[in-house]
Amino acid sequence: MAVAAAVIPKCCSSSSSSRFVLTTTLKKCFVHAISQPIKSKEEVLVVVGGGAAGVYGAIHAKTVAPHLGVVIIEQGKPLTKVKVSGGGRCNVTNGHCADNMILAENYPRGHKEFRGPFFNTHGPVDTVSWFVSHGVELKIEDDGRVFPVSNSSSSIIDCLMSEVKQRGVSVQTRKAVTAVSVANSGKFLLEVEQLPARHVEHVEADYLLIASGSSRQGYALASQLGHSIVDPMPSLFTFKIDDLSLRELSGVTFPRVKVRLKLDSVQKNIPQLTQVGPMLVTHWGLSGPAILRLSAWGARYLFSSGYKGKLIVDFIPDLHVGSLKSMLVQHKNQFAKQKVVNSYPPEFGITKRFWSYVLDRKGVNGDILWASISNNSLISIGSMLKDCTFEVIGKGQFKDEFVTAGGVPLSEISLNTMESKICSRLFFAGEILNVDGVTGGFNFQNAWSGGFIAGTTIGGLALSRFKAML
Ligand SMILES: Cc1cc2nc3c(=O)[nH]c(=O)nc-3n(C[C@H](O)[C@H](O)[C@H](O)COP(=O)(O)OP(=O)(O)OC[C@H]3O[C@@H](n4cnc5c(N)ncnc54)[C@H](O)[C@@H]3O)c2cc1C
Repeated sequence: MAVAAAVIPKCCSSSSSSRFVLTTTLKKCFVHAISQPIKSKEEVLVVVGGGAAGVYGAIHAKTVAPHLGVVIIEQGKPLTKVKVSGGGRCNVTNGHCADNMILAENYPRGHKEFRGPFFNTHGPVDTVSWFVSHGVELKIEDDGRVFPVSNSSSSIIDCLMSEVKQRGVSVQTRKAVTAVSVANSGKFLLEVEQLPARHVEHVEADYLLIASGSSRQGYALASQLGHSIVDPMPSLFTFKIDDLSLRELSGVTFPRVKVRLKLDSVQKNIPQLTQVGPMLVTHWGLSGPAILRLSAWGARYLFSSGYKGKLIVDFIPDLHVGSLKSMLVQHKNQFAKQKVVNSYPPEFGITKRFWSYVLDRKGVNGDILWASISNNSLISIGSMLKDCTFEVIGKGQFKDEFVTAGGVPLSEISLNTMESKICSRLFFAGEILNVDGVTGGFNFQNAWSGGFIAGTTIGGLALSRFKAML
């Protein structure tokens, strides 16, 4: 059943708020339904945004309440971020967190609230089951990231869009919802602009799901309906480091380092500002999972410090400083006749390029023999490997994944239903909320879980009202 939202021309709507008054005569008032006229008793859900959360929410609303008119209004193309996600492979979710308490720890914003029922209702296992039962083969990689076996995000997009079509969800593209209010009837009145902005439609909805990601327009819609917005700011970014010789190591990886962020603005000890994991040298500084996790947990502090601070790296976290120094002394005795630059204890697990960097930074001539290296130099090298400070001078751009911290506070919605506590029949899901996860599929999981809960709740409400009307 193809259904549409009711479109109210401004000129016909007596209850339109001043927001709906067009200020320019260039904008025409269009009097047509978005697809087909709706039947009088039929309720309508409008979903703002055709991203992961909006599309998943729409599908689940329609699954529970097939009679409900469901319309997704998308300003661009649906599922654009899914397309580019995970380097084009789409890291759908994470399969390493069977325990929801552990899963919640991957959300710098959301970790406390997500310890509750959110993932019990629809967690990673449910996401995987849903996609598998809809024909997408998935695989889990060693680090827990879940991808389509095809290694292509198109598998996810094709699956979702085929379900949208099959269930009769209407998708309206190149249209932006620019304003919203609640009419005396209790219905939502939306102003929808056809892009590029030529004319405006007015759309009525019984239920509204705002799933507009990190778009400013989406935050404005939430504010118009009475919500506050936690200042949006970037999360998941790399660090620009003030060290030209480090940049020459671009491409060097460290499988396991311990990184600690020290910022003037943060006096207390915050455990999450220390992370352990892989790190990568880039041509502008440092990246890799350990750095990205640090950027996510430190997002707010880094923002207020102007992205300046100190990064302290322990390159060999599994070795105690004492053992490390003894290994250096042992190596000196064993390889006395070798040049320092040519050998080092293999237990360090570092590359030769990095070893040269360490020697340069400590002012040790690599061409001397191990026999001639002073004890002070050994101590100094050992200290640098365990406790090396880098100056963070800014935020790098990480193209594979980045998200926005901030948005609608979780305290203003009920996580059992995703309904607003301020405005009834208004729902939110996905990145518009003040939620963000670290890398590894956690951000999409937030979108799937929120979309599912909002969609099934709306479907349930619509179904009860439908049955009551029969
Ligand atoms: C390059 C990149 C790669 C990523 N890779 C991964 C990954 O592999 N795994 C992972 O878990 N996360 C990944 N993420 C994060 C993930 O993409 C987001 O967390 C997720 O897309 C959020 O889904 P959403 O539906 O809430 O928002 P979005 O996907 O941003 O969708 C919101 C939609 O709403 C539309 N919209 C906004 N305002 C309006 C309006 N007023 N009217 C109409 N339409 C509107 C937008 O055009 C957009 O299509 C990646 C992010 C980026 C940028």
